Amino acid sequence: MSKDYEVVIGLEVHVELNTKTKIFCGCSTEFGGAPNSHVCPVCAGMPGSLPVLNKEVLHKAIAVGLATNCDITRDSKFDRKNYFYPDNPQNYQISQLYFPICRNGKVEIELKDGTKKFVRIHEIHMEEDAGKLVHDAATDETYVDFNRSGVPLIEIVSEPDMRSSEEVIAYLDTLRETIQYLGASDCKLNEGSMRADVNLSIREKGSEEFGTRTETKNLNSFKAIQRCIENEIGRQIDIIEEGGKVMQETRRWDDDKEYSYPMRSKEDAQDYRYFPDPDLVPIHVSEEMINEIKAEEPEFRPAKKIRYQEELGLPEYDADQITSEKHLTELLEGAVALGADAKKVSNWLMTETMRLMKETSTDADKLKFSAENLAKLVKLVESKEINNAVAKEVFEKAVFAENLDPEQYVKDNNMSTKADAGQLEAVVEKAIAANPKAVEDIKAGKGKAIGAIVGFVMKEMKGKCDPGEVNKLINQKLN
Ligand code: ADP
Ligand code: MG
Ligand code: ZN
Repeated sequence: MSKDYEVVIGLEVHVELNTKTKIFCGCSTEFGGAPNSHVCPVCAGMPGSLPVLNKEVLHKAIAVGLATNCDITRDSKFDRKNYFYPDNPQNYQISQLYFPICRNGKVEIELKDGTKKFVRIHEIHMEEDAGKLVHDAATDETYVDFNRSGVPLIEIVSEPDMRSSEEVIAYLDTLRETIQYLGASDCKLNEGSMRADVNLSIREKGSEEFGTRTETKNLNSFKAIQRCIENEIGRQIDIIEEGGKVMQETRRWDDDKEYSYPMRSKEDAQDYRYFPDPDLVPIHVSEEMINEIKAEEPEFRPAKKIRYQEELGLPEYDADQITSEKHLTELLEGAVALGADAKKVSNWLMTETMRLMKETSTDADKLKFSAENLAKLVKLVESKEINNAVAKEVFEKAVFAENLDPEQYVKDNNMSTKADAGQLEAVVEKAIAANPKAVEDIKAGKGKAIGAIVGFVMKEMKGKCDPGEVNKLINQKLN
């Protein structure tokens, strides 16, 4: 970006809350299922049906608000946002305009160079999701599936406090972690449980006033968000430099073609003809409820990161990597509680687990193996029942793929590399006798020569022994 301009970004982030049932009825929120199989008169918008607020939604919204330092609105209510679209069965969406449940929050973000800053949160409100239109290319007909209609959402609206794509990613990452740790949502951009709309404008450096913003939707990965922001900055600067004016509009980003196009000119709130929903009673949040939710707060990432270093003795890098995913912290803590060494567990999580997750495109929360089986594997290596090479194989085939008990698996498949002590000693003696040159070199101070003897032993033993153990034995014999 040219030095004369500053970019200003504010985000509207929708998060699907993972309650069992929908926000205003008892239908299941489960993803998938035959079209229109999780639908009742309320979420299908039938006249005369009455919505009732799911308390779990309120609790989770408040929990997110508290974790993001918001004030909780003690007397809150719902409003109708009117618009016409086939996936919106009532012709209005139940949302919150006048009294959103949370206001005036802030989250601290950390950038790659270590700088920290706060991004303020204007508000968080509760609302219902819409259904989905499904286009059948074969018949050129469009169908509507209301399974998603009424799935609870919170919308987190930030102040226009971000100044680069890096800050945006850091902010989204912080929100994602916080909400995942709370267990309120899995926050997956690619699956739509977290959706970010980017509001962006450009202004001359030093200017007090904001420029005209665009809002871009349809961003389903961090990479797409970053590319879209860089693209939009360039587009707006070009317009300004050519003497033109940026139009306030909603745009759509096409990540394959890497360009955005206008969707509609931005509505003003008055176009939605908001008014209080007469079917829902006002919400009163008591002090007691807030205290209860506060008391249930989990240990969040920053605190965990410090504790892993201080209590478990993990390096900062490990603590950072493991705490990036809540499920990894559960595996680590679980295995350590079963007596496994923290650093060894952390190594399995950071190397083999992350490698296989990448290879098999598995998200952390979809990992199959238990902390118990991971702890057992660590102990099998520690007790020298199996060596590292075999342990990797056992981890991949048995633990990672199928959550099998590694002790049983090693037994069943005769994979122990624990050599019979007598046999190993005999082979070591044979190896020494067979490699006089190496022995000579070792005695002359060329320590590396031991490799030839170790190699001989490993081959004789068909890999069923521990190289460290073999090294030790050879040294004992030669001294
Ligand atoms: P609307 O009611 O039209 O959706 P809001 O005032 O709610 O507008 O703002 C929506 C989002 O846009 C917020 O996240 C806000 O921070 C951001 N925003 C507002 N003005 C600007 C601007 N000039 N440049 C960039 N972002 C902005
Ligand atoms: Mg808005
Ligand atoms: Zn329903």
